[in-house]
Amino acid sequence: MDRIYRIDDGGTARHVIERDGVVALLEGDLFDGYRAGGEIGRVERPGAPPADFHVLAPLVPSKIVGVGLNYRDHAAEIGRPVPKEPLIFIKPSTAVIGAGQPIRIPPGAGRVDHEAELAVVIRKRAWRVPRERAAEFIFGITCSNDVTAREMQRRGVQYSHCKGYDTFAPLGPCIAVGLDGSALQVEGWVNGQRRQASNSREMIFPIDELVAYISSVMTLLPGDVISTGTPAGIAPLQPGDTVTVKVEGVGELTNPVVEG
Ligand code: ZN
Repeated sequence: MDRIYRIDDGGTARHVIERDGVVALLEGDLFDGYRAGGEIGRVERPGAPPADFHVLAPLVPSKIVGVGLNYRDHAAEIGRPVPKEPLIFIKPSTAVIGAGQPIRIPPGAGRVDHEAELAVVIRKRAWRVPRERAAEFIFGITCSNDVTAREMQRRGVQYSHCKGYDTFAPLGPCIAVGLDGSALQVEGWVNGQRRQASNSREMIFPIDELVAYISSVMTLLPGDVISTGTPAGIAPLQPGDTVTVKVEGVGELTNPVVEG
């Protein structure tokens, strides 16, 4: 399996591939038949981040489609009924940050929560994709933290505000290509303590159904991201915290939290 990172190479962003512990430049088209070029380094063990490089968000999608209330235990903890069809919203691409970049808690935002989620990266233009063909439109899996200003969410009916702040969409650290997302452990950790733990098989609407449903509404473009919902255990973040989203087989997406 390949893990694709985007790194800052002296001011230029470029994609690299980690395969069996070897880091190589990515050549060709990311979404259409890329190949591994020359070796530029190694990692400690397969799946470990390439420590010698400054890692960026693995890509900047044209849009992130979030899915609300996709785990029963999370719907219960916030006192909402289980939805009958996927509840979708958009997070702007300007909210995206990579591993290691700070999540900024804006002044007056009130309570701001982490939401550990498995995210799906789209491979090719998807419009009205039938559920049974969803897999061919999926490029890979990454970790997402659907950071949410909880009090604002309760005050309003739209999600653009509470989920759309700059830095509220950490993605990464890489895209695991060829990883089946249907039964992976999803965890949220704060300051070394586990707060969220579930498995993607617990989703109310599984990945293939989400691709079919969302693409029946809007065209998904290569690199677009579906953040598939969070399990129970959401909790507030404070400046000074360190928050980590772990998705089995992908890696760890860790971000510090600051005021501002
Ligand atoms: Zn969410």
